Amino acid sequence: MKKFPNFSIVQREPALDNALRPKSLSEFIGQERIKERLSLIINAAKKREEAIDHILFVGPPGVGKTTLALIIAEEQNAQIKMISAPAIQKSGDLIALLTGIEEKGVIFIDEIHRLSPSLEEILYSALEDGSISIVAGKGPGGRVLSLKLPPFTLIGATTRPALLSTPFRDRFGFIATLDFYTHEEMVKIIERSQKILGLNLSYESIYEIAKRSRGVPRIANRILKRIKDYVDLRDNENIDLAETKKVLELIGIDENGLDELDRKILFTLKDKFSGGPVGLKTLAAVLNESPETIESIYEPYLLRIGFIQRTSRGRVITPLGLAHIMRYHHDQ
Ligand code: ADP
Repeated sequence: MKKFPNFSIVQREPALDNALRPKSLSEFIGQERIKERLSLIINAAKKREEAIDHILFVGPPGVGKTTLALIIAEEQNAQIKMISAPAIQKSGDLIALLTGIEEKGVIFIDEIHRLSPSLEEILYSALEDGSISIVAGKGPGGRVLSLKLPPFTLIGATTRPALLSTPFRDRFGFIATLDFYTHEEMVKIIERSQKILGLNLSYESIYEIAKRSRGVPRIANRILKRIKDYVDLRDNENIDLAETKKVLELIGIDENGLDELDRKILFTLKDKFSGGPVGLKTLAAVLNESPETIESIYEPYLLRIGFIQRTSRGRVITPLGLAHIMRYHHDQ
């Protein structure tokens, strides 16, 4: 069979990021109910010597969806192939991915809501009857062959579950919605990560980083890596709270956990649209960002901390959001 080109799809990540990833469910902090359910599903499948049921992880970026997929494959001692949906362009790519998987192997598709409808259809039938149809030959002599697939596990990750068709969504045995982490959980995650990075931060510094990480482990890890840069350059493993704050300021994360673009969104709402309301597309165009990025990455946090509001006529800045940027302005 023809070998398809892009199995380099298994993304290589920098060693540091790999070291920071929890390698087992017991190392994975928080999301207790999800871990319990996963543990049940994994152990039952192991006992029956079957592939683990298909799983869909729903949640904002950076909260552990990929990490859990890797842990599941590890627990099952199975091969895992990882790809992001936009990288699957032709049906041939998807078919190669499906036919190339070994028994009980895991296929992880990130941003699964971005699969085209025709690819979603192929995947749906693969989940439904464990086989796929391939057209062999061209023209009137072409025949449709049905190819049986080995039992496998599909793990999807999405920030926008509503964009999956209902029948497709129903094929997942477990839909796990990952939430933002609580402050206490973030403290534990930061304590774990900083040790792996060889840092020795005080509780005050850890607390400060937790406060500014918006409940997202990836953001906390990113901050810690910049702190590590700072520490490595100074050959001094201890930094105090004032220096921690300095690094945070240097990378543009303010005391509410807002970054440059968050503030730009608030300033744009205030200065260009008199506080709003303004539609998502117009706002995104002015900011030179995609509406999807604004809606799925930036807005949820600004809404959660009450700095903006979504009304039927568009987005508005709240008095709280206004007060924040006014203060920011004065501090500059
Ligand atoms: P997602 O796939 O949801 O975008 P990832 O699984 O890539 O997020 O997680 C981002 C980073 O955050 C990972 O490198 C991992 O080290 C860390 N992380 C995520 N969740 C946890 C957790 N519960 N405990 C410890 N670290 C975590």
